[in-house]
Amino acid sequence: MSPERYQRIRNVLARRQTDLTVCLENVHKPHNVSAVVRTCDAVGIHRVHTVWEEKYQFRRGTAMGSQNWVRQTNHDTIDDAMATLKGQGMQVLVTHLSPSAIDFRDVDYTKPTAILFGQEKYGATDKAKALADQDIVIPMMGMVQSLNVSVAAALVLYEAQRQRTIAGMYDKQHLPEQECQALSFENGYP
Ligand code: SAM
Repeated sequence: MSPERYQRIRNVLARRQTDLTVCLENVHKPHNVSAVVRTCDAVGIHRVHTVWEEKYQFRRGTAMGSQNWVRQTNHDTIDDAMATLKGQGMQVLVTHLSPSAIDFRDVDYTKPTAILFGQEKYGATDKAKALADQDIVIPMMGMVQSLNVSVAAALVLYEAQRQRTIAGMYDKQHLPEQECQALSFENGYP
């Protein structure tokens, strides 16, 4: 491995945001899961959370795309996922097309934040909506009612990245050194 390649990996890991995460609730189409994880990597997210109800359990343990560099935690239930995220002091935002939802650009993403995205056809469950701290919406001006879930994730995550860049949150390493070394090692470096 060249020193340049190793330095590139270290620079990527140094920008990882440990207090910004995504929770995918019953998002089960492999191309959508892969696309969201790819965006998470691009934005600098270290860990993605997933919850699959019984009927979507075939997703469990299958490859997620850019999973080599983004950790995944699967939860058995949405209650478990919410308890974990809130236990880590995160504000939990649920993306949801509802009249009570606020514009996704009006949120402070420099706070520890988890953003929940719902199932491709039915959206987030009622329980997820009830347990979340805030509904957020991406305004829709056209004929279609909603965006593809991976497109919605990209829009919200890049707003979070924009705010965190301005706040200087990518200028300091958040990921513990041990985890940086573990990730490098698992991917064949050094
Ligand atoms: N009929 C579903 C509903 O009402 O929620 C549509 C589901 S949408 C295709 C799949 C997921 O993409 C949603 O659960 C949400 O996470 C996200 N999404 C899509 N468009 C969105 C928008 N305009 N605002 C917020 N989230 C959106």
